[in-house]
Amino acid sequence: MENKKVNIVGWGIAGANIAWHLKERSVEFEVYDSGRNHATRIAAGMINPIGFRRQIKSWQADLLVPYALNFYQQKVDELNANIFRQADIFRVFTDIEEANNWSAREGDDRYAEYMDTPNQNELPDLLEVDFPFGIGRVNGMHHLDTAEFLDLSKSYLEKKGVKFHNHNFDYGDIAPTQMYIFCEGTGMWNNPIFKDLPLNGTHGETIDIVTEKFDFKHVLNKRLYIKPMGHQTYRIGATYNWELKEPIKSPEGIDELKERLEAFTHFKYEIAAHQAGIRPTVKDRRPIIGRDEKYKNAFLFNGLGTKGVMVAPYYANQLCQFIFDNGTLDAEVNLNRFRKD
Ligand SMILES: Cc1cc2nc3c(=O)[nH]c(=O)nc-3n(C[C@H](O)[C@H](O)[C@H](O)COP(=O)(O)OP(=O)(O)OC[C@H]3O[C@@H](n4cnc5c(N)ncnc54)[C@H](O)[C@@H]3O)c2cc1C
Repeated sequence: MENKKVNIVGWGIAGANIAWHLKERSVEFEVYDSGRNHATRIAAGMINPIGFRRQIKSWQADLLVPYALNFYQQKVDELNANIFRQADIFRVFTDIEEANNWSAREGDDRYAEYMDTPNQNELPDLLEVDFPFGIGRVNGMHHLDTAEFLDLSKSYLEKKGVKFHNHNFDYGDIAPTQMYIFCEGTGMWNNPIFKDLPLNGTHGETIDIVTEKFDFKHVLNKRLYIKPMGHQTYRIGATYNWELKEPIKSPEGIDELKERLEAFTHFKYEIAAHQAGIRPTVKDRRPIIGRDEKYKNAFLFNGLGTKGVMVAPYYANQLCQFIFDNGTLDAEVNLNRFRKD
């Protein structure tokens, strides 16, 4: 297996993570990408260990977050690009119960390193924001400019001799003498080897707004996020729709985001852009990773769901260890969990 030519199919965050791990191992590879679905390109790119609704750590956060922070920092240093920025997430509480729960978490050793309450003097820029129940803060988090990460990684790897095919991969070309790592997001729905696996897909929309009346360098969150992008531009997201299976930009998506934004802010803004993508989600909310039973040269790296930027680095490494070092895959993410005969 080690000597087979390696092909990565898909250049989203999944494919880019696999590529960097292969490069670290000095494994040669080529990349195919059709540029069809842009889940990664429109992602907020946040690495956030806290789920706000229930105020609990997200799955494997203590493992995934430090690995991801270290991985992206190393890569952006290698790319010499300022595209991985530290930003706290300021959570605007929706009611008194949420505020009380947040205080309780601050006294809990498992959460104290992440969660605290900002002082009043740290909130001077939020004059046009309502927060009657207060604000909590998730500390020390980062966000990646995902579109830049894909583009800069691609040019860097091309300069190192990696060949990129900017078109759809033709499954008829699969050869037993080569290895394929499929990182196709919802493109997997067309993959004859893996299409029966239960990848649902969750549609999401975002808008970019420009405003002179709001100036905040951190991320603000209340039923949506407001993420600074520089030049007075902020990305607002995101919607969740489980019915739409194409990355359609809908007027309803814009209305929903505007309504949620204006429910707690009063600054004037203009909409500069509107994006849509499909998150590759799975019912049990775990990635789907592994090797096909029949086509032993076909591997899958998918199901990164709503947190692909955070989840991909650790599991790309685990998949590479599985392929090249005889390593094992966590049962929770192994695609075999759906193929129990
Ligand atoms: C609005 C929104 C906000 C998000 N915010 C965050 C966030 O803040 N933090 C976070 O961690 N995650 C976030 N996510 C989730 C994250 O974006 C996804 O988990 C991640 O992008 C999935 O990456 P992927 O590489 O698996 O799929 P994709 O990004 O969809 O990439 C798959 C690629 O494969 C290509 N492809 C497919 N089939 C073929 C084929 N046969 N041949 C050639 N190419 C093919 C496609 O063109 C595409 O470029 C967000 C998602 C959305 C939609």
